[in-house]
Amino acid sequence: MSVRTRFAPSPTGYLHVGGARTALFSWLYARKHGGKFILRIEDTDLERSTQESVNAILEGMTWLNLEYDEGPFYQTHRFERYNEVIGELMVKGLAYRCNCSKERLEELRERQMANKEKPRYDGCCRNKPISPDEPHVIRFKNPVDGAVVVDDMIRGKVAFNNSELDDLIIRRTDGAPTYNLTVVVDDHDMAITHVIRGDDHLNNSPRQINMLRAMGWDVPRYAHVPMILGDDGARLSKRHGAVSVMQYLEDGFLPEALLNYLVRLGWSHGDQELFSVDEMIRLFDIDAVNKSPSAFNTEKLTWINQQYLKSADPLRVAHLVSSHLGDLGVDPAEGPDLVAVVEAQRERASTLKELAAISRFYYKDFDQYDEKAAAKALKAPAVGPLRKMRERLAQLDNWSREAIHQSIEQVVEELQVGFGKVGMPLRVAVTGGAPSPDLDLTLFLIGREACLRRIEKAVGYIEQIQKM
Ligand code: GLU
Repeated sequence: MSVRTRFAPSPTGYLHVGGARTALFSWLYARKHGGKFILRIEDTDLERSTQESVNAILEGMTWLNLEYDEGPFYQTHRFERYNEVIGELMVKGLAYRCNCSKERLEELRERQMANKEKPRYDGCCRNKPISPDEPHVIRFKNPVDGAVVVDDMIRGKVAFNNSELDDLIIRRTDGAPTYNLTVVVDDHDMAITHVIRGDDHLNNSPRQINMLRAMGWDVPRYAHVPMILGDDGARLSKRHGAVSVMQYLEDGFLPEALLNYLVRLGWSHGDQELFSVDEMIRLFDIDAVNKSPSAFNTEKLTWINQQYLKSADPLRVAHLVSSHLGDLGVDPAEGPDLVAVVEAQRERASTLKELAAISRFYYKDFDQYDEKAAAKALKAPAVGPLRKMRERLAQLDNWSREAIHQSIEQVVEELQVGFGKVGMPLRVAVTGGAPSPDLDLTLFLIGREACLRRIEKAVGYIEQIQKM
Protein backbone atom coordinates (compact mmCIF):
# COMPACT_ATOMS: atom_id res chain seq x y z
CA MET A 1 0.00 0.00 0.00
CA SER A 2 1.51 3.29 -0.99
CA VAL A 3 1.93 5.97 1.61
CA ARG A 4 -0.58 8.83 1.67
CA THR A 5 -0.21 11.61 4.20
CA ARG A 6 -2.11 14.82 4.64
CA PHE A 7 -1.91 18.23 6.18
CA ALA A 8 -5.30 19.36 7.45
CA PRO A 9 -5.19 22.91 8.77
CA SER A 10 -8.22 24.77 10.03
CA PRO A 11 -8.18 28.15 8.29
CA THR A 12 -8.60 30.26 11.38
CA GLY A 13 -5.29 32.13 11.17
CA TYR A 14 -2.02 32.23 9.28
CA LEU A 15 0.30 29.28 8.79
CA HIS A 16 2.33 29.28 11.99
CA VAL A 17 5.63 27.54 12.57
CA GLY A 18 4.00 24.64 14.42
CA GLY A 19 1.66 24.00 11.50
CA ALA A 20 4.48 24.38 9.03
CA ARG A 21 6.55 21.78 10.88
CA THR A 22 3.64 19.34 10.93
CA ALA A 23 3.16 19.93 7.21
CA LEU A 24 6.89 19.44 6.62
CA PHE A 25 6.95 16.13 8.52
CA SER A 26 3.92 14.86 6.57
CA TRP A 27 5.41 16.04 3.30
CA LEU A 28 8.80 14.48 4.03
CA TYR A 29 7.23 11.21 5.02
CA ALA A 30 5.28 11.05 1.77
CA ARG A 31 8.31 12.04 -0.30
CA LYS A 32 10.57 9.58 1.46
CA HIS A 33 8.24 6.70 0.76
CA GLY A 34 7.35 7.74 -2.75
CA GLY A 35 3.81 8.46 -1.59
CA LYS A 36 1.36 11.30 -1.94
CA PHE A 37 0.85 14.38 0.19
CA ILE A 38 -2.66 15.77 0.40
CA LEU A 39 -3.84 19.18 1.52
CA ARG A 40 -7.20 19.39 3.20
CA ILE A 41 -8.74 22.58 4.46
CA GLU A 42 -10.85 21.91 7.56
CA ASP A 43 -13.19 24.82 7.27
CA THR A 44 -16.32 23.45 8.92
CA ASP A 45 -16.18 26.04 11.67
CA LEU A 46 -17.90 28.67 9.57
CA GLU A 47 -17.59 31.39 12.16
CA ARG A 48 -13.84 31.17 12.55
CA SER A 49 -12.75 30.08 9.06
CA THR A 50 -11.85 32.77 6.56
CA GLN A 51 -10.76 32.87 2.95
CA GLU A 52 -7.98 35.19 4.00
CA SER A 53 -6.59 32.51 6.23
CA VAL A 54 -6.91 29.87 3.49
CA ASN A 55 -4.87 32.19 1.28
CA ALA A 56 -2.30 32.70 4.02
CA ILE A 57 -1.90 28.94 4.46
CA LEU A 58 -1.55 28.34 0.72
CA GLU A 59 0.90 31.23 0.46
CA GLY A 60 2.99 29.86 3.33
CA MET A 61 3.12 26.40 1.81
CA THR A 62 4.07 27.78 -1.57
CA TRP A 63 6.84 29.85 -0.05
CA LEU A 64 8.19 26.80 1.77
CA ASN A 65 7.89 24.70 -1.38
CA LEU A 66 5.73 22.11 0.34
CA GLU A 67 3.91 21.16 -2.80
CA TYR A 68 0.87 18.92 -2.41
CA ASP A 69 -0.09 16.20 -4.84
CA GLU A 70 -3.83 16.40 -4.25
CA GLY A 71 -6.13 19.10 -3.01
CA PRO A 72 -6.75 21.48 -1.52
CA PHE A 73 -9.95 19.71 -0.55
CA TYR A 74 -12.43 21.81 1.39
CA GLN A 75 -14.57 20.13 4.01
CA THR A 76 -17.38 22.60 3.42
CA HIS A 77 -17.74 21.08 -0.07
CA ARG A 78 -18.30 17.64 1.37
CA PHE A 79 -21.29 18.02 3.69
CA GLU A 80 -23.39 15.67 1.57
CA ARG A 81 -20.85 12.93 1.98
CA TYR A 82 -20.62 13.45 5.75
CA ASN A 83 -24.40 13.25 6.04
CA GLU A 84 -24.38 10.06 4.03
CA VAL A 85 -21.96 8.50 6.53
CA ILE A 86 -23.96 9.78 9.48
CA GLY A 87 -27.02 8.20 7.87
CA GLU A 88 -25.17 4.89 7.55
CA LEU A 89 -24.17 4.96 11.20
CA MET A 90 -27.81 5.61 12.10
CA VAL A 91 -28.98 2.68 9.98
CA LYS A 92 -26.41 0.43 11.61
CA GLY A 93 -27.60 1.53 15.04
CA LEU A 94 -24.20 3.07 15.77
CA ALA A 95 -25.46 6.61 16.11
CA TYR A 96 -28.58 8.08 17.64
CA ARG A 97 -30.55 11.29 18.01
CA CYS A 98 -30.24 13.16 21.24
CA ASN A 99 -32.49 15.97 22.40
CA CYS A 100 -31.03 16.55 25.84
CA SER A 101 -31.50 20.17 26.78
CA LYS A 102 -28.63 22.48 27.55
CA GLU A 103 -29.89 22.66 31.13
CA ARG A 104 -29.86 18.89 31.55
CA LEU A 105 -26.35 18.62 30.17
CA GLU A 106 -25.20 21.44 32.40
CA GLU A 107 -26.74 19.82 35.45
CA LEU A 108 -25.15 16.49 34.57
CA ARG A 109 -21.80 18.16 34.23
CA GLU A 110 -22.08 19.89 37.58
CA ARG A 111 -23.12 16.68 39.29
CA GLN A 112 -20.18 14.79 37.82
CA MET A 113 -17.77 17.53 38.78
CA ALA A 114 -19.13 17.56 42.34
CA ASN A 115 -18.56 13.77 42.49
CA LYS A 116 -15.05 14.31 41.16
CA GLU A 117 -15.93 12.37 38.00
CA LYS A 118 -14.77 13.26 34.53
CA PRO A 119 -17.64 15.18 32.86
CA ARG A 120 -19.10 13.06 30.07
CA TYR A 121 -22.40 12.43 28.39
CA ASP A 122 -24.34 9.65 30.15
CA GLY A 123 -25.99 8.09 27.10
CA CYS A 124 -29.43 9.17 28.26
CA CYS A 125 -30.90 9.24 24.72
CA ARG A 126 -29.23 6.04 23.49
CA ASN A 127 -32.42 4.06 23.36
CA LYS A 128 -35.04 6.82 23.17
CA PRO A 129 -37.20 7.11 20.09
CA ILE A 130 -36.70 10.71 19.01
CA SER A 131 -38.43 12.04 15.93
CA PRO A 132 -36.18 13.54 13.25
CA ASP A 133 -38.60 16.46 13.19
CA GLU A 134 -37.73 17.75 16.61
CA PRO A 135 -34.48 19.62 17.23
CA HIS A 136 -31.71 17.16 17.97
CA VAL A 137 -28.05 16.42 17.64
CA ILE A 138 -26.66 13.08 16.51
CA ARG A 139 -24.25 11.21 18.73
CA PHE A 140 -21.93 8.36 17.95
CA LYS A 141 -22.50 5.26 20.05
CA ASN A 142 -19.06 4.78 21.47
CA PRO A 143 -18.30 1.25 22.69
CA VAL A 144 -18.82 1.08 26.45
CA ASP A 145 -16.28 -1.62 27.28
CA GLY A 146 -12.73 -2.34 26.47
CA ALA A 147 -9.94 -0.02 25.49
CA VAL A 148 -8.59 1.58 22.36
CA VAL A 149 -4.87 1.50 21.83
CA VAL A 150 -3.35 4.21 19.67
CA ASP A 151 -0.15 2.71 18.32
CA ASP A 152 1.60 5.98 17.77
CA MET A 153 4.77 6.10 15.68
CA ILE A 154 6.31 8.69 17.99
CA ARG A 155 4.79 7.94 21.37
CA GLY A 156 4.43 4.20 21.17
CA LYS A 157 1.25 2.54 22.43
CA VAL A 158 -1.17 4.82 24.26
CA ALA A 159 -4.26 3.12 25.69
CA PHE A 160 -7.62 4.80 26.34
CA ASN A 161 -10.45 3.06 28.19
CA ASN A 162 -13.75 3.33 26.41
CA SER A 163 -15.29 4.11 29.77
CA GLU A 164 -13.40 7.41 29.58
CA LEU A 165 -14.87 8.32 26.20
CA ASP A 166 -18.47 9.39 25.81
CA ASP A 167 -20.91 9.43 22.93
CA LEU A 168 -19.67 12.41 21.06
CA ILE A 169 -21.81 14.65 18.92
CA ILE A 170 -21.20 14.01 15.24
CA ARG A 171 -23.88 16.32 13.89
CA ARG A 172 -25.04 19.51 15.50
CA THR A 173 -28.62 20.75 15.79
CA ASP A 174 -28.08 22.96 12.75
CA GLY A 175 -27.12 19.92 10.71
CA ALA A 176 -23.38 20.65 10.58
CA PRO A 177 -21.09 17.64 11.02
CA THR A 178 -18.42 17.96 13.69
CA TYR A 179 -14.64 17.75 13.50
CA ASN A 180 -14.11 14.13 14.59
CA LEU A 181 -16.64 12.84 12.09
CA THR A 182 -15.36 14.85 9.14
CA VAL A 183 -11.76 13.81 9.82
CA VAL A 184 -12.72 10.16 9.93
CA VAL A 185 -14.67 10.34 6.68
CA ASP A 186 -11.94 12.30 4.93
CA ASP A 187 -9.06 10.20 6.15
CA HIS A 188 -10.91 7.17 4.84
CA ASP A 189 -12.10 8.66 1.55
CA MET A 190 -8.69 10.14 0.85
CA ALA A 191 -7.09 6.77 1.67
CA ILE A 192 -4.76 8.33 4.21
CA THR A 193 -2.28 5.76 5.51
CA HIS A 194 -0.39 7.97 7.97
CA VAL A 195 -1.96 10.70 10.06
CA ILE A 196 0.83 13.02 11.16
CA ARG A 197 -0.46 15.87 13.30
CA GLY A 198 0.03 17.90 16.45
CA ASP A 199 -0.21 16.06 19.75
CA ASP A 200 -3.11 18.25 20.78
CA HIS A 201 -5.12 15.74 18.73
CA LEU A 202 -3.89 12.64 20.55
CA ASN A 203 -7.08 12.48 22.62
CA ASN A 204 -9.19 12.58 19.48
CA SER A 205 -7.51 9.51 18.05
CA PRO A 206 -9.33 6.83 20.13
CA ARG A 207 -12.66 8.42 19.21
CA GLN A 208 -11.71 8.50 15.56
CA ILE A 209 -10.47 4.91 15.67
CA ASN A 210 -13.80 3.79 17.18
CA MET A 211 -15.70 5.49 14.39
CA LEU A 212 -13.44 4.06 11.70
CA ARG A 213 -14.02 0.59 13.12
CA ALA A 214 -17.77 1.17 13.37
CA MET A 215 -17.75 1.92 9.64
CA GLY A 216 -15.58 -1.11 8.95
CA TRP A 217 -12.79 1.08 7.61
CA ASP A 218 -9.02 0.67 7.91
CA VAL A 219 -7.33 2.51 10.74
CA PRO A 220 -4.35 4.60 9.56
CA ARG A 221 -1.06 4.80 11.43
CA TYR A 222 -0.83 7.83 13.70
CA ALA A 223 2.12 10.04 14.60
CA HIS A 224 1.46 12.84 17.07
CA VAL A 225 4.15 15.46 16.89
CA PRO A 226 5.05 17.14 20.20
CA MET A 227 4.43 20.82 20.47
CA ILE A 228 6.91 23.63 20.07
CA LEU A 229 7.75 25.76 23.06
CA GLY A 230 9.01 29.30 23.20
CA ASP A 231 12.44 29.85 24.75
CA ASP A 232 10.69 30.54 28.07
CA GLY A 233 9.22 27.02 28.14
CA ALA A 234 5.62 28.12 27.43
CA ARG A 235 3.78 26.94 24.36
CA LEU A 236 4.96 28.94 21.33
CA SER A 237 2.60 31.82 20.73
CA LYS A 238 2.45 35.28 19.26
CA ARG A 239 4.13 36.84 22.20
CA HIS A 240 7.34 34.95 21.37
CA GLY A 241 7.63 37.06 18.25
CA ALA A 242 7.24 35.93 14.69
CA VAL A 243 5.16 32.79 14.59
CA SER A 244 3.58 33.29 11.19
CA VAL A 245 5.68 31.67 8.54
CA MET A 246 5.28 34.67 6.24
CA GLN A 247 6.78 36.92 8.89
CA TYR A 248 10.05 35.10 8.28
CA LEU A 249 9.83 35.94 4.60
CA GLU A 250 9.39 39.56 5.54
CA ASP A 251 12.27 39.37 8.00
CA GLY A 252 14.58 38.14 5.27
CA PHE A 253 14.82 34.41 5.89
CA LEU A 254 15.28 31.87 3.12
CA PRO A 255 12.60 29.20 2.91
CA GLU A 256 15.16 26.39 2.84
CA ALA A 257 16.71 27.75 6.05
CA LEU A 258 13.36 27.77 7.81
CA LEU A 259 12.65 24.23 6.60
CA ASN A 260 16.06 23.13 7.79
CA TYR A 261 15.42 24.70 11.16
CA LEU A 262 11.94 23.17 11.43
CA VAL A 263 13.11 19.67 10.57
CA ARG A 264 15.62 19.87 13.40
CA LEU A 265 12.92 20.85 15.87
CA GLY A 266 12.36 17.48 17.46
CA TRP A 267 14.38 15.42 15.00
CA SER A 268 18.09 14.89 14.62
CA HIS A 269 20.59 12.89 12.65
CA GLY A 270 23.78 12.60 14.65
CA ASP A 271 25.05 16.10 15.18
CA GLN A 272 24.43 17.26 11.63
CA GLU A 273 22.82 20.71 11.52
CA LEU A 274 22.46 21.49 7.84
CA PHE A 275 20.29 19.39 5.59
CA SER A 276 19.43 20.03 1.99
CA VAL A 277 15.85 19.13 1.12
CA ASP A 278 17.08 15.98 -0.64
CA GLU A 279 19.01 14.97 2.42
CA MET A 280 15.99 15.60 4.62
CA ILE A 281 13.93 13.33 2.41
CA ARG A 282 16.59 10.65 2.54
CA LEU A 283 17.39 10.82 6.25
CA PHE A 284 14.16 11.87 7.95
CA ASP A 285 11.97 9.32 9.62
CA ILE A 286 8.92 9.94 11.69
CA ASP A 287 9.72 7.35 14.35
CA ALA A 288 12.99 9.16 15.07
CA VAL A 289 11.07 12.28 16.14
CA ASN A 290 11.56 13.15 19.77
CA LYS A 291 8.75 12.47 22.21
CA SER A 292 9.31 15.61 24.20
CA PRO A 293 8.52 19.16 23.11
CA SER A 294 11.27 21.24 21.56
CA ALA A 295 11.99 24.89 22.12
CA PHE A 296 12.07 27.42 19.33
CA ASN A 297 15.34 29.26 19.18
CA THR A 298 15.53 32.29 16.91
CA GLU A 299 19.28 32.56 17.29
CA LYS A 300 19.77 29.09 15.90
CA LEU A 301 17.40 29.80 13.03
CA THR A 302 19.36 32.95 12.26
CA TRP A 303 22.61 31.01 12.25
CA ILE A 304 21.19 28.46 9.83
CA ASN A 305 19.90 31.24 7.62
CA GLN A 306 23.34 32.77 7.53
CA GLN A 307 24.83 29.48 6.36
CA TYR A 308 22.32 29.24 3.52
CA LEU A 309 22.75 32.88 2.62
CA LYS A 310 26.49 32.36 2.22
CA SER A 311 26.13 29.49 -0.20
CA ALA A 312 22.94 30.27 -2.11
CA ASP A 313 23.11 31.17 -5.80
CA PRO A 314 24.14 34.86 -5.82
CA LEU A 315 21.77 35.63 -8.65
CA ARG A 316 18.87 34.32 -6.60
CA VAL A 317 20.02 36.19 -3.51
CA ALA A 318 20.28 39.37 -5.58
CA HIS A 319 16.75 38.86 -6.78
CA LEU A 320 15.49 38.30 -3.23
CA VAL A 321 17.42 41.12 -1.63
CA SER A 322 16.23 43.66 -4.17
CA SER A 323 12.77 43.80 -2.60
CA HIS A 324 14.35 44.52 0.79
CA LEU A 325 16.43 47.23 -0.82
CA GLY A 326 13.22 48.59 -2.27
CA ASP A 327 11.85 48.83 1.27
CA LEU A 328 14.86 51.03 2.05
CA GLY A 329 14.11 53.30 -0.89
CA VAL A 330 16.90 51.89 -3.03
CA ASP A 331 16.52 51.03 -6.68
CA PRO A 332 19.34 48.57 -7.33
CA ALA A 333 19.23 49.41 -11.03
CA GLU A 334 20.73 52.77 -10.15
CA GLY A 335 24.08 51.58 -8.97
CA PRO A 336 26.56 48.74 -9.05
CA ASP A 337 25.69 45.26 -10.20
CA LEU A 338 23.65 43.75 -7.38
CA VAL A 339 25.12 40.29 -7.85
CA ALA A 340 28.60 41.71 -7.26
CA VAL A 341 27.36 43.55 -4.17
CA VAL A 342 25.76 40.35 -2.85
CA GLU A 343 28.99 38.46 -3.35
CA ALA A 344 30.94 41.18 -1.58
CA GLN A 345 28.58 41.62 1.37
CA ARG A 346 26.70 38.47 2.10
CA GLU A 347 29.05 36.86 4.56
CA ARG A 348 28.49 39.86 6.81
CA ALA A 349 24.73 39.39 7.05
CA SER A 350 22.46 36.79 8.62
CA THR A 351 19.28 37.72 6.79
CA LEU A 352 18.32 39.27 3.47
CA LYS A 353 16.94 42.21 5.37
CA GLU A 354 20.27 42.74 7.08
CA LEU A 355 22.08 42.25 3.79
CA ALA A 356 19.95 45.02 2.27
CA ALA A 357 20.66 47.32 5.19
CA ILE A 358 24.42 46.87 4.97
CA SER A 359 24.38 47.22 1.17
CA ARG A 360 22.41 50.44 0.99
CA PHE A 361 25.52 52.59 0.89
CA TYR A 362 26.56 51.17 -2.46
CA TYR A 363 23.55 52.86 -3.97
CA LYS A 364 22.72 55.85 -1.83
CA ASP A 365 24.64 58.45 0.10
CA PHE A 366 24.04 58.05 3.82
CA ASP A 367 22.88 60.87 6.04
CA GLN A 368 24.84 59.92 9.08
CA TYR A 369 28.01 58.13 10.02
CA ASP A 370 28.04 55.29 12.44
CA GLU A 371 28.83 57.20 15.60
CA LYS A 372 31.58 54.95 16.91
CA ALA A 373 33.26 54.52 13.55
CA ALA A 374 33.25 58.27 12.91
CA ALA A 375 34.59 59.07 16.38
CA LYS A 376 37.48 56.72 15.77
CA ALA A 377 38.32 57.43 12.16
CA LEU A 378 37.13 60.89 11.18
CA LYS A 379 39.49 63.09 13.20
CA ALA A 380 41.89 65.90 12.35
CA PRO A 381 44.85 63.70 11.30
CA ALA A 382 42.63 62.08 8.70
CA VAL A 383 42.17 65.25 6.67
CA GLY A 384 45.55 65.01 4.93
CA PRO A 385 45.23 61.36 3.89
CA LEU A 386 41.64 61.85 2.76
CA ARG A 387 42.54 64.85 0.59
CA LYS A 388 45.41 62.96 -0.97
CA MET A 389 43.28 59.96 -1.62
CA ARG A 390 40.65 62.09 -3.27
CA GLU A 391 43.23 63.64 -5.54
CA ARG A 392 44.64 60.25 -6.54
CA LEU A 393 41.30 58.63 -7.14
CA ALA A 394 40.16 61.55 -9.26
CA GLN A 395 43.23 61.14 -11.48
CA LEU A 396 42.96 57.39 -12.03
CA ASP A 397 42.79 56.51 -15.70
CA ASN A 398 40.73 53.50 -15.14
CA TRP A 399 38.43 52.65 -12.25
CA SER A 400 39.54 49.14 -11.44
CA ARG A 401 40.19 47.32 -8.18
CA GLU A 402 43.83 47.01 -9.07
CA ALA A 403 44.26 50.73 -9.80
CA ILE A 404 42.40 51.68 -6.62
CA HIS A 405 44.54 49.33 -4.59
CA GLN A 406 47.73 50.84 -5.99
CA SER A 407 46.66 54.38 -5.31
CA ILE A 408 45.94 53.57 -1.66
CA GLU A 409 49.37 51.94 -1.35
CA GLN A 410 50.99 54.98 -2.92
CA VAL A 411 49.35 57.40 -0.53
CA VAL A 412 50.38 55.23 2.42
CA GLU A 413 53.95 55.28 1.17
CA GLU A 414 54.02 58.96 0.36
CA LEU A 415 52.73 59.96 3.77
CA GLN A 416 54.95 57.45 5.51
CA VAL A 417 52.11 56.25 7.74
CA GLY A 418 50.61 52.88 8.61
CA PHE A 419 47.91 51.52 6.30
CA GLY A 420 45.22 52.14 8.92
CA LYS A 421 45.83 55.88 8.96
CA VAL A 422 44.65 56.04 5.37
CA GLY A 423 42.45 52.99 5.14
CA MET A 424 40.31 53.58 8.20
CA PRO A 425 39.13 57.12 7.47
CA LEU A 426 38.74 56.27 3.81
CA ARG A 427 36.52 53.31 4.63
CA VAL A 428 34.33 55.29 7.02
CA ALA A 429 34.17 58.19 4.57
CA VAL A 430 32.74 56.05 1.78
CA THR A 431 30.66 53.52 3.73
CA GLY A 432 29.53 55.60 6.70
CA GLY A 433 30.85 52.81 8.91
CA ALA A 434 28.75 49.93 7.55
CA PRO A 435 30.41 46.52 7.36
CA SER A 436 32.26 46.23 4.05
CA PRO A 437 34.73 43.98 2.22
CA ASP A 438 38.27 44.81 1.03
CA LEU A 439 38.68 48.52 0.57
CA ASP A 440 39.55 48.41 -3.12
CA LEU A 441 36.47 46.31 -3.83
CA THR A 442 34.29 48.58 -1.72
CA LEU A 443 35.42 51.69 -3.53
CA PHE A 444 35.24 49.99 -6.90
CA LEU A 445 31.61 49.00 -6.35
CA ILE A 446 30.55 52.37 -4.97
CA GLY A 447 31.91 54.05 -8.07
CA ARG A 448 34.25 56.96 -8.55
CA GLU A 449 31.80 59.81 -8.46
CA ALA A 450 30.19 58.78 -5.19
CA CYS A 451 33.58 58.05 -3.62
CA LEU A 452 34.94 61.50 -4.45
CA ARG A 453 31.79 63.17 -3.21
CA ARG A 454 31.80 61.22 0.05
CA ILE A 455 35.50 61.86 0.74
CA GLU A 456 34.90 65.55 0.31
CA LYS A 457 31.95 65.36 2.63
CA ALA A 458 34.03 63.55 5.25
CA VAL A 459 36.69 66.26 5.11
CA GLY A 460 33.95 68.85 5.58
CA TYR A 461 32.60 66.86 8.50
CA ILE A 462 35.97 66.74 10.26
CA GLU A 463 36.51 70.46 9.74
CA GLN A 464 33.07 71.16 11.08
CA ILE A 465 33.57 69.21 14.32
CA GLN A 466 36.92 70.84 14.82
CA LYS A 467 35.26 74.20 14.87
CA MET A 468 32.77 73.14 17.51
N1 GLU B 1 -7.79 20.75 11.57
C1 GLU B 1 -7.01 20.34 12.67
C2 GLU B 1 -6.13 21.49 13.15
O1 GLU B 1 -5.92 22.43 12.39
C3 GLU B 1 -6.09 19.19 12.34
C4 GLU B 1 -6.83 17.91 12.31
C5 GLU B 1 -5.99 16.72 12.01
O2 GLU B 1 -4.86 16.84 11.57
O3 GLU B 1 -6.54 15.64 12.19
O4 GLU B 1 -5.69 21.47 14.25
